[in-house]
Amino acid sequence: KRQGRDQFCVYTDAMTHEAHDLIYKSAGIRRALENDEFELLFQPQFDIVAPTIIGAEALIRWNHPELGQLSPDAFLDVAEQTGLILDIDDWVFKQVAALVSEWKSQGFNLDGISFSVNFSGRKFFEPGLGKQLDDVIAMYDCSATQLVLEITERDMMSRFDLSAATIKDLRKRGYRVSIDDFGTGYSSLASLKNLPADTIKLDRSFILDIVTSDRDLAIVKSVMTLAEELGLSVVAEGVETQDQVDSLISIDCQYAQGYHFAYPLREDQWMLLLSAYNNA
Ligand code: C2E
Ligand code: CA
Ligand code: CA
Ligand code: CA
Repeated sequence: KRQGRDQFCVYTDAMTHEAHDLIYKSAGIRRALENDEFELLFQPQFDIVAPTIIGAEALIRWNHPELGQLSPDAFLDVAEQTGLILDIDDWVFKQVAALVSEWKSQGFNLDGISFSVNFSGRKFFEPGLGKQLDDVIAMYDCSATQLVLEITERDMMSRFDLSAATIKDLRKRGYRVSIDDFGTGYSSLASLKNLPADTIKLDRSFILDIVTSDRDLAIVKSVMTLAEELGLSVVAEGVETQDQVDSLISIDCQYAQGYHFAYPLREDQWMLLLSAYNNA
């Protein structure tokens, strides 16, 4: 009995600590939203055949007043647990629409350039999402056709029928939808047939050994073949070397993103790169 009580104490202590941590961190995120401490970086996406820049993925960072710049790993978990992820996803979407609008007003040509936004499952499955997004972009000089909404394969598979319905609605409104981290969500390739998305982003883990592993190359190649038949385009994620680029080109994978081409960039650097690269 005595031992039982001790164990109970340890247990409650741990719970209290965890709860405190959660409350503390979520208060930080609320403050960050109020004080404009979040920032978006933009990682360029390339057509490696052309070659040209076709767009960028917005990636969030937290410029924490004491801890410096934090990556999503450091705060998205807590945001998910507390539901604050909805506020973050709203902020990101609005910020992208506002920046696109701002860049156009500065005279930048964004024809043919698309902007990818990461959505949590929670956001993606919110009722009335399409209308909500339309209301946001209506306030800016930004059209749905310039935006790509990324949702992970894992989240998508968790609610398959709702995913398919949401994708249909979003596409009807002009948005494009991309299946992120593809290959890690344990969906069968056949299930793609019933998911009317536009793009799949092939997870970095498949690209990692593509040069040395014939098996990995064969996997990517079969995804490419199937995607082509279903009218989906494929973006290879996490491309870090020229050899990987060569392998991708050898199997007709046209689109890629990764440190080999560019790191996630601050907005001014991204726009400089875009103008320099696509006008050269
Ligand atoms: P993700 O959507 O798969 O984004 C790609 C991640 O890989 C990014 O990490 C990017 O910086 C990193 N990356 C890009 N190229 C390379 C490469 O060549 N090699 C390696 N090793 N890594 C590369 P980041 O920015 O830390 O984001 C991590 C994850 O956090 C994202 O994974 C996404 O799931 C989530 N995330 C980021 N921004 C947002 C956001 O605005 N909203 C939501 N809901 N989630 C976000
Ligand atoms: Ca800014
Ligand atoms: Ca993504
Ligand atoms: Ca990804």
